[in-house]
Amino acid sequence: MIRINPHYQKLQANYLFADIAKRVGTFQQQHPDKHLIRLGIGDVTQPLPAACIAALHHATDEMANAASFRGYGPEQGYDFLRKVIAAHDFRARGAEVDADEVFVSDGAKSDTGNIQEIFAADVRVAIPDPVYPVYVDTNVMAGRTAAAADGRYPGFVYLDSTAANGYVPALPSEPVDLIYLCFPNNPTGATATREQLAAWVDYARQNRALILFDAAYEAFIRDPDLPHSIYEIPGAREVAIEFRSFSKTAGFTGLRCAYTVVPKECMAWDADGQRVPLHPLWMRRHTTKFNGVSYPVQRAAEAVYSTEGQQQVRALIDDYLANARTIRSAFESMGFACTGGENAPYVWIDTGRDAWEFFDLLLNRAGVVCTPGVGFGRCGQQHVRISAFNSAENVANALQRIRTALQ
Ligand code: PLP
Repeated sequence: MIRINPHYQKLQANYLFADIAKRVGTFQQQHPDKHLIRLGIGDVTQPLPAACIAALHHATDEMANAASFRGYGPEQGYDFLRKVIAAHDFRARGAEVDADEVFVSDGAKSDTGNIQEIFAADVRVAIPDPVYPVYVDTNVMAGRTAAAADGRYPGFVYLDSTAANGYVPALPSEPVDLIYLCFPNNPTGATATREQLAAWVDYARQNRALILFDAAYEAFIRDPDLPHSIYEIPGAREVAIEFRSFSKTAGFTGLRCAYTVVPKECMAWDADGQRVPLHPLWMRRHTTKFNGVSYPVQRAAEAVYSTEGQQQVRALIDDYLANARTIRSAFESMGFACTGGENAPYVWIDTGRDAWEFFDLLLNRAGVVCTPGVGFGRCGQQHVRISAFNSAENVANALQRIRTALQ
């Protein structure tokens, strides 16, 4: 008898987006003439930078020619891309990362979801709340917790991110082994200072723990004092794996390219208490289960680092950041406490009431769709996430309608 993995039965159905769609559908049926503005979107809205498109076309032509055609490439990514990533994203910022520590992949979702496979089933996992749900669900699937009670899984240590701690969680009071951190954060848009990251690195070093650092929104950091990579923190190479993505940096959500850095010094312990380097372990996992990102897509990613590519992605992100600032200042001027929106595409708004109640208010009175924070965890119960991935015109119209609705 074929039986299923029983841990899948512990997964809590995520009704967030289905619930949003249902409420939006009902509203549209009742108001067929009302144009809705969606400010809940976590996907980019602008097209790919011209430099990436040119590289894609060129690489496609190479694939059409027997002399330049490429079949399977290296699973970890082509050297041309790994080298420019290491040089530009890390060494240029004083962070030591070598090209062969970079594993190119099809997405930070896959990588942040798959990485837990190389750790023991009984490691103690620390999960921020609110959280990008992939970290939670992949550990549930792997059997690291019992079934949820009251919306939380008893096997995890939750790291609350609230106004009281500036949405950067405090160190855990109970021991943990695997720590997920994400800065700039989805959904809160909060960023972590050098000192805050250094405290986590110290914790990991002292407790033989490991940090999984999701920097998918790194490109939105403009404050010169904020670290872009965890490897800017001394000692992080032994205790941190970092995830990056071209999705939000350069509009690759539909093209798919990302990468993970596993430094050679990064260690975990085996059942006999011996230190085991993680780089060969991740190499083994990656080369066994993944056959590489397509050649044209890696050429498009390489083009992000060209002079024109850099100017174009900066302009792209400048536009989203301008939206984010407009959203934040509009909500602040209406008296709401906000975080994010400065070095991140998300604004996290404390609505002072139930998140769904506020969602319904914006939908029914303003015709604007946001994302209720409770979909990201208990700490989001009275928050909504507003996203800057939209046109400036849509953002201005939405804010005008919200002002009128809330007066
Ligand atoms: N990590 C975070 C925090 C995200 O918000 C997202 C996408 O929304 C991802 C990772 C996924 O990125 P990718 O498109 O590279 O899979």
